[in-house]
Amino acid sequence: MLDLSLEYRHMKKEIDRALKDCLRHQKWILGPEVKKLEEKIAKYLGIDFCVGTSSGTESLVIALRALSLQRFNSEYFTREQKIITTPLTFTATGDAILRSGATPVFVDIAPETFNLDPQKIREYLRKNPDNIVGIVPVHLYGRACEMDQILAIAKEYKLFVIEDVAQAFGGTWKGKKLGSLGDLASFSFFPSKNLGGYGDGGMVAANDPGLAETVRMLTKHGGKDKNNVDHIGYNARLDTIQAAILLIKLKYINEFNKKRVAIAKMYQKELADCAELILPTIAPGHAFHQYTIRVLNNKRKQLQEHLAANGISTMIYYPVLLSKMPLFQKISEPAGTLASAEAASPEILSLPIEPLLQKREVLSICRCIHAGLG
Ligand SMILES: *Cc1c(COP(=O)(O)O)cnc(C)c1O
Repeated sequence: MLDLSLEYRHMKKEIDRALKDCLRHQKWILGPEVKKLEEKIAKYLGIDFCVGTSSGTESLVIALRALSLQRFNSEYFTREQKIITTPLTFTATGDAILRSGATPVFVDIAPETFNLDPQKIREYLRKNPDNIVGIVPVHLYGRACEMDQILAIAKEYKLFVIEDVAQAFGGTWKGKKLGSLGDLASFSFFPSKNLGGYGDGGMVAANDPGLAETVRMLTKHGGKDKNNVDHIGYNARLDTIQAAILLIKLKYINEFNKKRVAIAKMYQKELADCAELILPTIAPGHAFHQYTIRVLNNKRKQLQEHLAANGISTMIYYPVLLSKMPLFQKISEPAGTLASAEAASPEILSLPIEPLLQKREVLSICRCIHAGLG
């Protein structure tokens, strides 16, 4: 699905040099590369503060807890406090809401975007305006959520917004970088993400200096001074060595995201005549972390097996909606029906979109898809 060694070979000299620099200076915890990466990414996003973290999951938990502290002066939310998110996301989005103390409310997706449907958020809030404290929109597959509407709803109901940008580094909404629009934003540098390290890593982006400071304290045991802390914190810093690698990879992110869009356009052209597929639309600013199609007429398994038999791996992001998992069946609330997410779930299939894929490889995948659909 994704051959990370291709990317390593593409920038081997620079990566090797960055690693050697780390071996030389030996500043493994919060070394100079971490600060440099935070500054570079803040500038890239057009935002005031970035704080490196140990993963995208920890970024979400810490962002949520920082908002609980800022808005409610409380270390954790209570289970009565509810946070709206999508059921079609990685487990971590919902899990982080639970770990922050709150209850996730799953609102249905808009089928064209695979993202939270703002209309459905409005419908839910009209009937249940109490105890909702925030929204966690996920820019799934690299595509921006409808941020104008989400931000307008948040303003009207005085909700916070934490963007989950794990899949959308470099993506934009109306020219603004994703992660610069909400109260806070959470990024992941998991190796397979658009900007991926060589292990776990993440970042929280903020414009509010108070929130940024709380986030930073939470990543370092809960205080400015770890021997005299203010909050229930974590050991969740970004490793120096990951920051050093990410500084190199950041130089390539725009080029690589462009290559992703070019591959998406090839798929779009070559697969346009497949009546049994629904292709994703190429919205402006889409970062195409995944190129996710819908396979109709119950043919997903057949197609996936045919591709696998021809050496082409595909993935299902995600095979189980959060609302269907045992954990969330115990603690969560569905906001009415999740019909669109439930209809999409058995049909979605993500095709390879590694930026260094060659055109002939994409064409051969497309030929194989035609053959697989019969
Ligand atoms: C990857 C991902 C996360 C979690 O990031 P990790 O760095 O793996 O902890 C959270 N949300 C979404 C949408 C993701 O894709």
